[in-house]
Amino acid sequence: MVSPKPANRGLRLLGKPHVRPAILWEELKDREGWVKCNLCARRCIIAPGRYGVCGVRKNIDGKLYTVVYGLLTAMNIDPIEKKPLYHYHPGSRVLSVSTVGCNFFCKFCQNWSISQSRLEKGLYGVFKTPEEVVSAALEYDADGISYTYNEPTIFFEFMYDTAKLAKDNGLFNTMVTNGYITSEAVDMLGNLMDAATVDFKGGGNPDFYKKYSGVLNPEHIFEAILAMRDNGWFIEITNLVVPEVGDHEDDIRKLSGWIVDNIGPETPFHLLRFHPDYKMLDFPPTPLATLEKLAKVAMEEGLKHVYIGNVAPHPLEHTYCPKCGYRVIERIGFSIVSWKLKEDNTCPKCGYKLNIKGTYHGRGHDYLFLL
Ligand code: SF4
Repeated sequence: MVSPKPANRGLRLLGKPHVRPAILWEELKDREGWVKCNLCARRCIIAPGRYGVCGVRKNIDGKLYTVVYGLLTAMNIDPIEKKPLYHYHPGSRVLSVSTVGCNFFCKFCQNWSISQSRLEKGLYGVFKTPEEVVSAALEYDADGISYTYNEPTIFFEFMYDTAKLAKDNGLFNTMVTNGYITSEAVDMLGNLMDAATVDFKGGGNPDFYKKYSGVLNPEHIFEAILAMRDNGWFIEITNLVVPEVGDHEDDIRKLSGWIVDNIGPETPFHLLRFHPDYKMLDFPPTPLATLEKLAKVAMEEGLKHVYIGNVAPHPLEHTYCPKCGYRVIERIGFSIVSWKLKEDNTCPKCGYKLNIKGTYHGRGHDYLFLL
């Protein structure tokens, strides 16, 4: 619960272009002027004049507002493999956008300068409308838009409006999320969102989440993934392997088993190497042997497409046919260097159809910074 003081501060924010009425919130019946936000699994109860945990949703005069609508901290062209999305429109280019703020407090965050910037003193960015973002995507010949770098759930209103316009203009939408989003918010996005990369940390271990991300109940992430599945989103799962404290075999076994049972054995699963950053500078990078060992564990649990990331070059960056084992896609980092699948994404050796959505675009090599 967020404490009540000072009442109604923030009225001066009203009228600014990046301050807009929020959605998915309710008034508290028993406390006049207090609101409850239902956008992410924290479901903050917010007193007048105060912010929710993400630091970008404020109760102003008894109503909830987002203060980061279109206030962008990045607008870049990336290859979709950077999300990472390896099996959704491979080789395509996406326009990626972010704001400040996050509903997590990860001590290892690599984008901490934007994610941990909260409240008015940390508010910054370049204001863009959804029309400007979609126009830029079309102008720079992007295939889709990705809501990423910080947690997009917390800039939901801008994501929703932009996604709608993007769809109308023939673009796809993807989000890179920590998964701490409510089912109501996932349902509201519905078929506006095409694909999601859901980022686990420390194998989904509850103690790890509590100590290193400030999150009490990672179970909500699994509920959100089921809602994404039910809405027909293409899902890839990542897991950041933090050495010594977030690299337990049992956690990877459990997480992999859950993915197999609930999303399917051909769900791409990426084990990502940790690099020292933010408040965890005294930890070493994840040893390659640890990533390889955990990849083997994930495969033993039945996952067919297990990748390791941030290690290029490595054989586990490539895609292998689940039936005959033929190396059908070769990657180095975020670049596809060889594509051997047929046009319908079947294996040229055995004819097996791989779990890949969309055709190979063959042009995801460009990086542009547009802000
Ligand atoms: S989106 Fe922000 S205000 Fe809303 S519940 Fe999550 S942390 Fe709280």
